Amino acid sequence: MKAVKWVAPRKVEVVEVDRPVPEPHEALVRIESTGICGSDIHYYADGRIGNTVMTGPLVLGHEYSGIVEQVGADADPGLVGKRVAVEPGIPCLACEWCRTGHYNVCLDMRFPGGPPYDGALQEYVAVHAGFCFPIPESMTPAEAAMMEPLAVAVHTVELGHVKPGQTAAILGLGPIGLLTAQVAKLSGVSRLFGTDLLDYRVEAGLRYGVDRAFNASELNTVDTILKETNGRGVDVVFDCARSADTPALACRIARPAGRCVLTGISGESSGTFPVDIARRKELSLQWCRRFKFNYPSATQMTASGRVDVRSIITHSFPLERCQEAFDLVCDNRDNVLKVSIDQ
Ligand SMILES: [Zn+2]
Ligand SMILES: [Zn+2]
Repeated sequence: MKAVKWVAPRKVEVVEVDRPVPEPHEALVRIESTGICGSDIHYYADGRIGNTVMTGPLVLGHEYSGIVEQVGADADPGLVGKRVAVEPGIPCLACEWCRTGHYNVCLDMRFPGGPPYDGALQEYVAVHAGFCFPIPESMTPAEAAMMEPLAVAVHTVELGHVKPGQTAAILGLGPIGLLTAQVAKLSGVSRLFGTDLLDYRVEAGLRYGVDRAFNASELNTVDTILKETNGRGVDVVFDCARSADTPALACRIARPAGRCVLTGISGESSGTFPVDIARRKELSLQWCRRFKFNYPSATQMTASGRVDVRSIITHSFPLERCQEAFDLVCDNRDNVLKVSIDQ
């Protein structure tokens, strides 16, 4: 079967590899759609995220869906023939964190598309059947693959403990920011600010529920949001940017005793934020690690039409043209939001 392997910064190649054989607890999934994520772009362009470094050729991609063609002896045979959204990270299910409801921070997590685990930009994967979520027929394969970033957005908003009527701001209006905007509005946020450095993403913010969006390279984020909230700041800040600078901005625009949810991945292994401001305001800083238990609600929100994932997918490429697809996302060309690789 075909697989697309990262071989060097900004270089991927289509190669032939063996089709996987499912273990007894696994499903063999024929992949239909894989979304390209900001984290894939870190690996693609830099060969690393912080101190997680590529050491050789690797298949990228972790936002995926497909059809279950076969299951192992211990897996649910009812999955065969079903279109599924696959929760990518497979935790050990045995450690203290897995057993206490925090499987997303399992120390023995096998997360595809990051070293040393191959990802989903290939024709088939064998994956733990318990992480395959059947999706309604009304959803397309590309929409099903969007359950992964939507699960991140749902978890992000959960961690914000949003109360109806509260105010919020989203820093970074890429796909995660735009999905977070939709979920935040569903959760009762009254006035939602949003910023990005790209004008087309600022405009996109307004389409997905942001009430007041602006380009942070033209207007000062802190001054603007403080001025427009009469100096108060917002109740919750969601940092969905791929920037090392936004956690500091989040601290400055959160209201006293407010909360910052830090979801974006800057790619650096350390960063700075103003500890004096965070302390004086008694802020709650909440980091977000992917998601947990969020696929069913993400699917429900999409199937019921409450969240629009479809229109965030701006481009589609076949597997053979992954290089072009990565370059497009890497360079933010052609008003790109989400790119899906469709097979
Ligand atoms: Zn992702
Ligand atoms: Zn574990």
